[in-house]
Amino acid sequence: MVIVFIGPPGAGKGTQCRRLAAHLGVPHLSTGELLRDTRDDSDLGRLVAGYIDAGRLAPDDVVLPILTKRLSNEDCANGCLLDGFPRNVNQAEMLDQYLADRGQRLDLVLHLDVGRQELIKRLLRRAKTEQRVDDTEDVIAKRLDVFHRQTAPVLDYYRDQDHFVVINGMQSPDEVFSEILSHLGGSETS
Ligand code: AMP
Repeated sequence: MVIVFIGPPGAGKGTQCRRLAAHLGVPHLSTGELLRDTRDDSDLGRLVAGYIDAGRLAPDDVVLPILTKRLSNEDCANGCLLDGFPRNVNQAEMLDQYLADRGQRLDLVLHLDVGRQELIKRLLRRAKTEQRVDDTEDVIAKRLDVFHRQTAPVLDYYRDQDHFVVINGMQSPDEVFSEILSHLGGSETS
C-alpha cells in the first residue's frame, strides 16, 4: 500500500502521516526529513541546505536517489506513506515508473487543502516550537509560491485518477484523520 500526501507547507501532512503510519503499521517517509538528515559538511549536505534554507526544491537528481534508497529498505515491502513527495510533475512520473517497475501502484493520493492565511498562521506558530530555519516569514512566502508554481500541477496530474481525494485540511486534526480513514476502504486490507 503506497499513499501519497500532497499539500502546501503547514497543511498537516507530517501530523497526519505520523498518525496514519502508526494506524497502518507502515513507515512514514518524509523527503523533507530525509533531506534535512543529509545536512552536514559534505558537498551534498551543503548543496541540500542551500535549497532548504532558501525554500526552494532540491534538484530531482539529488532527491530521487535519496528517496529510492529509502524505499528499497525492507520495511517498505508492504508499502509506505509519502510525505512531501512528489513535489513536481517529473517526480510524479518517476514515482509511477519506479512503482510500475516493481509491479506496484499508488493506492491513494490525498490532497490536504488549506487556505493561505491559515497556512501562514500555522507555520509562524510552528516556528516558535520547532526552530526550523525555513519557517521564517520570507521563506514561508517562498515555499508557498513554490507549491503553487511547481507542486500544484501535480494535483492536475493525479486529479483524473480514481484514487485521488481532496481532504478538507481546515478541520481539526482529529476530523482530518477521520476523513482520511473514511477514504481508506480497501487500501487498509490490500
Ligand atoms: P518539508 O519538510 O516537506 O516542508 O520540506 C522542507 C524542504 O525540503 C522543502 O522546502 C525543500 O527545500 C526540500 N524538499 C522536501 N521534499 C522535496 C522534494 N520532493 N523535492 C525537492 N525538494 C524537497
